[in-house]
Amino acid sequence: MSDNERMPWCETCGMRKSPVGRSVPIEMANSLCNDDCDGYRKDPQPSGHWIGEECAAFSNFTNECAICGAPLFFIERGER
Ligand SMILES: [Zn+2]
Ligand SMILES: [Zn+2]
Repeated sequence: MSDNERMPWCETCGMRKSPVGRSVPIEMANSLCNDDCDGYRKDPQPSGHWIGEECAAFSNFTNECAICGAPLFFIERGER
């Protein structure tokens, strides 16, 4: 997943989209697109991850990323 897939640029406001369902630090809130923007839920869709954040870092006791649901088995083996 590239940076632009993790936090795509909003075509409406021109800012990066904040990760879905994650708490945004107050000092970053004014420089990220959020649900208040008409473009937030339009394509390109926001992901659940911050830039640089790996799925496996949030592995729980299932075989899926707790945030985006990607199957970690495939990610670890580089098969996807
Ligand atoms: Zn926006
Ligand atoms: Zn993930």
